[in-house]
Amino acid sequence: MSEILVSFVYNKNNARCMWCKRTRNPHPDFTFETIPTKVFTSKKGRKIELCFSCHEYETFKSKKTKTDFKKNLDLKYETLKVLNI
Ligand SMILES: [Zn+2]
Repeated sequence: MSEILVSFVYNKNNARCMWCKRTRNPHPDFTFETIPTKVFTSKKGRKIELCFSCHEYETFKSKKTKTDFKKNLDLKYETLKVLNI
């Protein structure tokens, strides 16, 4: 998956990153905008909405651990569910 082809949705209503729980754009110039997010489909078919920085982190982690990006989404989702956060 190429990062260049990943287009994030700006100013989406009810945007919320499922990892960091942010809903507002972290950039100081865009404080009244929602956070740019994109919905990814995990290997198990879950819809995972992520912000740009969390997506970058997941991509980095996938490359580092040589794990499939979509599989990583499931692993992280299940970890969050177990921890109830
Ligand atoms: Zn995030």
